[in-house]
Amino acid sequence: MLIIDTDACIGCGLCEDNCPFDAIHVEEGKAVVGDECTLCGACIDHCEVDALTIDKEEVAGIDLDAWSGVWVYAEYRNGRIAPVTHELLGVGTDLAKKRGVKLAAVLLCESAGDVPAELIASGADIVYTVEDPALKDFTDDAYGHALEDLALKYKPEIILAGATAIGRSFIPMVATTLGTGLTADCTSLEIGDDGHLHQTRPAFGGNIMATIMCPNHRPQMSTVRPMVMQANESDASRTGEVISETIAPERLISRCRVVKSVYTESNQVNITEADVVVSGGRGLETAEGFRLVEELADLLGGAVGATRAAVDADWIGYPHQVGQTGKTVASKLYVACGISGAIQHVIGMKSSETIVAINRDEKATIFDIADYGVVGDLFEILPAVIEKLKK
Ligand SMILES: Cc1cc2nc3c(=O)[nH]c(=O)nc-3n(C[C@H](O)[C@H](O)[C@H](O)COP(=O)(O)OP(=O)(O)OC[C@H]3O[C@@H](n4cnc5c(N)ncnc54)[C@H](O)[C@@H]3O)c2cc1C
Repeated sequence: MLIIDTDACIGCGLCEDNCPFDAIHVEEGKAVVGDECTLCGACIDHCEVDALTIDKEEVAGIDLDAWSGVWVYAEYRNGRIAPVTHELLGVGTDLAKKRGVKLAAVLLCESAGDVPAELIASGADIVYTVEDPALKDFTDDAYGHALEDLALKYKPEIILAGATAIGRSFIPMVATTLGTGLTADCTSLEIGDDGHLHQTRPAFGGNIMATIMCPNHRPQMSTVRPMVMQANESDASRTGEVISETIAPERLISRCRVVKSVYTESNQVNITEADVVVSGGRGLETAEGFRLVEELADLLGGAVGATRAAVDADWIGYPHQVGQTGKTVASKLYVACGISGAIQHVIGMKSSETIVAINRDEKATIFDIADYGVVGDLFEILPAVIEKLKK
């Protein structure tokens, strides 16, 4: 599917030198492509005699222009829309505007109630609803089939979902059944000058940001971490269209039956939704030391966060981990205590409005992103702050 114009090819070898997959070679003065080719296009960019092309329609077997519109999967659980849905409608508004298309939300549930109005107020132009008792509880297969059927009927060019437990669970299946790509855990989404969705996410342990495209297939699918995108200001005066859809009953039969749902009752604030997060790292030294962080968080009415080092040491549970393999927070105030500022941690908290760091090492990288830095021993500083707040 990489087409080589053998008349134009001069066998210069530039394509061979620049192929990242070692898939193209010059044999008897002409370029020859092997099975390793991923159609990345690097060779085309370097060919000086325009001897290489990719027939995109032939590759995909689809007409890209037939797919239009931006969709957001509206995650609805425990009787409310998940906050990430509003964030996706925020970024979705920009994407749809740039593409000159409509923004739609897809709501799968037992009964929609006022939710479509809430989604329209948040930016959706259209809400597709599927109301069915079979959708009362989330199951991968029933939800996946419903979204797949709707996508095949309406052909959206982009589908976004939250990188939540639910999104991560069923969106890969939908991408697979639609025969398209999926970029998971995106931190930035933009429409490039080429009209494609440019999906950026951390790669190689968070050391580089990779921008990934899906140029030959549709829809372009991404999951996005909660708390990364900005939601629109809710506007109750917005109007939109609600389209009620029905899915064939056999498509909603699941292999799983939900026997019972248990909601955790915790007086701990969810770190992804807290205005104040006080986080502790290895500098706290022991589980006992870590209690200082909890005390400060309590006094500030905030939630407790932690680095992976603190979680691995068993000072606090994994749900509190902030970072690449933990949660992303965007609190108004983030207090980092005894945290060095490794990229894998920073990626999960750098969007916080005000960052305060306490560290005895003045060269600690956490100070590069902190708005306020306190250089000193946290076993002196934290008790003093706690004492002052108590007063
Ligand atoms: C694939 C991968 C994914 C990862 N995911 C995550 C993730 O999601 N979240 C995460 O946090 N990490 C993650 N990590 C680990 C990350 O690379 C770091 O190892 C970790 O964040 C370091 O935690 P820390 O800052 O608590 O510990 P350290 O790096 O050991 O830093 C401790 C800091 O405490 C300071 N300190 C020590 N004693 C005191 C004192 N008495 N007073 C004041 N300051 C003191 C020190 O100066 C130091 O700066 C990941 C790593 C990999 C490879």
